Amino acid sequence: MDSQDSIYLDNNATTRPCASAAEAVASALTTLWYNPSSIHRPGQAARHALELARKDIATLLACKPRELTFTSGGTESIDLAIRGVLGTLSAAAPRRAFVTARTEHAAVRDLAESLEQSGHPVHWVPVPRSGIIDPSDLAPLLHDAALVSIQWANNETGAIQSIEAISSLCRNAGALLHCDAVQWAGKEPITPELGACADLLSCSAHKFHGPKGVGVLRVRTGVRLSPRLLGTQELGRRGGTENVPGILGAAAAARAATDWLANPAERTRLASLRDRFEAAVIRGVPDAHVNSPAQRLWNTTNIGFPRLEAEALLLLLSEQGVAASAGAACSSGSLDPSPVLLAMNIPREIAHGSLRFSLSRNTTQEELDRAAAIIARCVEKLRASASTPGMLPT
Ligand code: PLP
Repeated sequence: MDSQDSIYLDNNATTRPCASAAEAVASALTTLWYNPSSIHRPGQAARHALELARKDIATLLACKPRELTFTSGGTESIDLAIRGVLGTLSAAAPRRAFVTARTEHAAVRDLAESLEQSGHPVHWVPVPRSGIIDPSDLAPLLHDAALVSIQWANNETGAIQSIEAISSLCRNAGALLHCDAVQWAGKEPITPELGACADLLSCSAHKFHGPKGVGVLRVRTGVRLSPRLLGTQELGRRGGTENVPGILGAAAAARAATDWLANPAERTRLASLRDRFEAAVIRGVPDAHVNSPAQRLWNTTNIGFPRLEAEALLLLLSEQGVAASAGAACSSGSLDPSPVLLAMNIPREIAHGSLRFSLSRNTTQEELDRAAAIIARCVEKLRASASTPGMLPT
């Protein structure tokens, strides 16, 4: 199957660069390949373009351009935020704890586990079945907290957290709030009031049709951060020559996203396409189970297919031209149930057979109708082969 014919319902594949981002990258590679830290004229032209790009991304994030630090992606932005804040604390500081949830992306969750193993105090906020944290469960964990990291929206279920309530709890308790906004930025608007909820905010260009490998960290003016990569670039917050083509591509994508977000009807339209797709999948597979809560992003659905292995279904779907994704892949090549779904107390037999399907701004109803029919056929085929010993799906 030609990859051009595939239906992309995978949150990394669906967000391929928009045309303006691809053009900006190509033009930067051919005309603006100079080092933006050089003081010669062409270097300064690259610097100028980089600073204009920073402004465009600041517009999307409703913050000041100087508050932004470019990184190599969302993961590095998150690492810089969390280790950067904790790195400013003395070992004797009375407030040192890091607070987060097991439903966070691995960039936060694995980092928290590693901090915990090295002896840093870490508190895990309980997560209910909806995946949406109850702020009253967070409050008792803040007495010794220096930093809280809660994502705005979940990458596997789309669950949206109550960031405003969480922010005011953190402020009252004297803890900083880092927000992983990788899934939110570019898909939902950020007003100055909403943006101001987080002291630090991470995002990644490839989630809003920019190139992969470009991230940004917003650090609110006045928040102290110790750099992870030493050097003079990015106001000393992140050493290393900036990825000019990637950043200019990200800025083009940010401009397109800002324009797209101005029309809320588009998000409503896509959410109803997603709901229609979900209903069609359940019609085709009546025991399928939607793991996502109602309060979620317009583009995501996470569906469990009991008694199936997510990996087997993914591979079969991929053969039929549907690109979806599941939880974390373990090193043996099989799929472990997603830690996010397990943290939400989704039963193992459902979590094991759960896939997430993500729409992009460009996903069509026709693609979703085709995908729902393919999913029903693949589930039926896998179940038939599982109940017939020795038979493999073809
Ligand atoms: N956080 C969330 C919620 C994500 O969905 C992702 C990527 O999928 C990341 C962080 C990591 O971003 P990146 O892949 O740019 O490192």
